[in-house]
Amino acid sequence: DRKANPYSHLFKYIMVGDSAVGKSNLLLQFVDKRFSPNSDFTIGVEFGSRSINIDNNQVKLQIWDTAGQEKFRSITRAYYRGAVGALIVYDITRRETFEGLANWLTDCRKYSSTDVTIVLVGNKCDLEASRQVSYAEASSFANEHGLLFFETSAKTGSNVDEAFEQTAKIIFERTKNNP
Ligand code: GDP
Repeated sequence: DRKANPYSHLFKYIMVGDSAVGKSNLLLQFVDKRFSPNSDFTIGVEFGSRSINIDNNQVKLQIWDTAGQEKFRSITRAYYRGAVGALIVYDITRRETFEGLANWLTDCRKYSSTDVTIVLVGNKCDLEASRQVSYAEASSFANEHGLLFFETSAKTGSNVDEAFEQTAKIIFERTKNNP
């Protein structure tokens, strides 16, 4: 509860990207250190939160998940509204999810606030043998579009905290100088 866990900053993050790239599991891993291997049903997480410490400030990350809406491309404007961080997730083992990025980027730029920090996340990096998108290619896409870039595994937890936390540090610095 708020008394036990007060915070001085609240950052809304959204996650977008094609279906089954691992958005719900990234959230589950970051918030709860859990992974759900089941592919047969949507976990249906709608949002989760976790507080982290930045320069002795308690920063609460409130992370919104699409909960399957992306299948119908019916993500509402309310989803994007007020987001200071946006994670655009693709699956490194399915090239078509990388090809779909440009559309998600367009929507983020169109519907989020102008100064949203956008992060490209290549998930499932534990499945190296099935990789279809190289680190170099994704990294250069990120550079071209001014995005942060991380490869993660929601399964092993590799780089998951880093992706959420480094993004928060950047947003924190930005809002500190420009509240
Ligand atoms: P979403 O539709 O984008 O929210 O994707 P989910 O989180 O539901 O994940 C889709 C499927 O991919 C599930 O079967 C997950 O168990 C699996 N999955 C998610 N992340 C990873 C990962 O990092 N590595 C592996 N091997 N599987 C993953």
